[in-house]
Amino acid sequence: MPDKYTAVWVSHSSMGDFIKCPRSYYLHNMYKDPKTGHKVSLVTPHMSLGIAVHEVLEGLAEFPSESRMGHDLLAIYEKEWKKVTGKKGGFLNDTEEAEFKARGVVMLKKVVEDPRFLVNKCIKLPQDKMPCNFYLSEEHNIILNGLVDWIEYLPETDSLHLVDFKTGKVEEKESSLQLPIYLLLCDALHKKRKVIKASYWYLESDKLVEKKLPDIDTARRDVLAAAVKVKDARDIAKREGVEKAFVCPQGVYNPQTKEGGCMSCRPYEFILNSDSRVEFVGVGGFSQDMYVLIR
Ligand code: SF4
Repeated sequence: MPDKYTAVWVSHSSMGDFIKCPRSYYLHNMYKDPKTGHKVSLVTPHMSLGIAVHEVLEGLAEFPSESRMGHDLLAIYEKEWKKVTGKKGGFLNDTEEAEFKARGVVMLKKVVEDPRFLVNKCIKLPQDKMPCNFYLSEEHNIILNGLVDWIEYLPETDSLHLVDFKTGKVEEKESSLQLPIYLLLCDALHKKRKVIKASYWYLESDKLVEKKLPDIDTARRDVLAAAVKVKDARDIAKREGVEKAFVCPQGVYNPQTKEGGCMSCRPYEFILNSDSRVEFVGVGGFSQDMYVLIR
């Protein structure tokens, strides 16, 4: 019988970290502050903007499709913004915060003008306190978890359309595992209907980009291959130590001198080394210690 508590949990973001850089994966997903026992996380203005806009849009799924767009999205955004305002959202001053907040207002006004499929029926995957999850591999003891932003129900074909909202400017790479992961989550947790379509909605440019989905076997093969690499590295870390398992692939960061590094890891190395260039701003919803980079 597999044991969920000893399983390795993987998600799009954690596998994405690992693919970019194993050390970055360790810093973002495994390291725990020995004093608090908490994982650590860096809050940034981009992240806070994304959280506030996602909360508004994903929250619409709670309302019936007919009345959904009758709700005042900007008023909901104001409420959501209060949760990320100030330093706890990564903003170092009022001007910076106002600029980011205004970007979200523009995005939501475009959604109100043309809500596209948000006025159609949607479904939600079953979820408890944890994000949606299922055993990707019992043999390897790996659980895949994640949250699909929006799942439109297509009545003509009794099928599903997966949508991911994007608040950043950078387009998702062709090699991204995000949609294959969403496909696997839907396939495992909503057996009744098939996914036939997937899109990214770039909210700033108001561009909806439809993407070709892999077949389910290819999706499972690719996602499992990435997940097994993560698990293998964690096993090496247990046997031989973190410095052996999660190395900087570019050779930039020096674990002996604790110097070097790039923008993805430097703020985290500052956190690990109690450097004054990062400041503790509170404990987040998943009991992680949150820090802001003093830029
Ligand atoms: S410098 Fe090396 S360890 Fe740091 S994030 Fe970049 S690749 Fe990873």
